[in-house]
Amino acid sequence: MPPMHAWLDDLNIPYKTNEPLAPLTWYKVGGAAQVLAEPSSVQQLTALASQCHTADVPTRVLGLGANLLVADQGVDGVVVRLSDPAFRQVRIEGTTVVAGGGFELAKLVLTTARAGLAGLECLAGIPASVGGAIRMNAGGVFGDIGQAVKRVMVADATGQVYYRDRDDLEFSYRRTNIVARYILSVQFDLSPDDPKALIRRVKEIFLYKKNTQPLREGSAGCAFKNPDQPDPQGRRLSAGQWIDKASLKNFAIGGARVSDRHANFIITDRGCTAGDVITLINHVQKTVADRFGVALEREVVEWP
Ligand SMILES: Cc1cc2nc3c(=O)[nH]c(=O)nc-3n(C[C@H](O)[C@H](O)[C@H](O)COP(=O)(O)OP(=O)(O)OC[C@H]3O[C@@H](n4cnc5c(N)ncnc54)[C@H](O)[C@@H]3O)c2cc1C
Repeated sequence: MPPMHAWLDDLNIPYKTNEPLAPLTWYKVGGAAQVLAEPSSVQQLTALASQCHTADVPTRVLGLGANLLVADQGVDGVVVRLSDPAFRQVRIEGTTVVAGGGFELAKLVLTTARAGLAGLECLAGIPASVGGAIRMNAGGVFGDIGQAVKRVMVADATGQVYYRDRDDLEFSYRRTNIVARYILSVQFDLSPDDPKALIRRVKEIFLYKKNTQPLREGSAGCAFKNPDQPDPQGRRLSAGQWIDKASLKNFAIGGARVSDRHANFIITDRGCTAGDVITLINHVQKTVADRFGVALEREVVEWP
């Protein structure tokens, strides 16, 4: 097999080697990608996927980096970013909206609200690409993205493109049954509504998030999923409430700290490393498990 750079050059796909990933994530920590590739079409992406598969080179997809912790040593193989306009289109036909996997969720929320289409306003204030939002079934108390999805265009790790339709899709709390490596575009089925009322709703939800979460600091949103396990009184507490009960608000290790605003957010201060974040995550999990017997599952995706 020729060296990786030789076939990458042959594929004619824009790529960089040893590219720092920290600036492309919300935590702003972690190392570099051996290769960061930004294909300019579905054909380029599938050719790249196929070649990586043949050469046994690992591939990963980077969205907006809002739920991602990249290790300090970085990642081997190819990180694919759907940053080209080919993956950032949005099309509205009646109540159907098709958005590219690399399109920003925040823009999609505003575009659909302004067009008088309801169904995505519940996602206001969630930083994500459309592909990343589908992968994580992004959402919260107001609803999640899965409820509005009609069809998803994906490619598997070998570069095979296919569709997943509503009737065989499952979305639940921060998960979906889509296992294909690449989410290329998503078709949403929305319903007509008053644009002014929708914009008001978007603003309300955004303000709610702004008032309850540290949106301006380095974080990946909630570090842990809310556990099913009830407290001794039979109440279901959120992960943040368990962490708060363990008196861990503001607890810091190196440059990583538990937010005092929302205990499920781990904040990265200046000089923080991915190692600090991982050590703090481990500490929080151990403390909550030791004190209350509650197992907190990580929501943040870790690379490698
Ligand atoms: C301030 C803040 C607030 C947040 N609030 C919320 C919230 O209210 N609700 C919520 O659910 N989440 C929240 N999050 C977490 C984050 O916004 C979501 O998990 C979001 O879905 C991540 O999308 P992304 O594009 O950034 O994905 P990334 O972080 O880039 O990647 C996450 C995972 O998705 C995969 N992925 C990304 N794009 C694709 C693609 N095109 N195809 C296949 N796989 C892909 C990645 O490989 C990775 O496994 C918050 C995060 C922050 C920083």
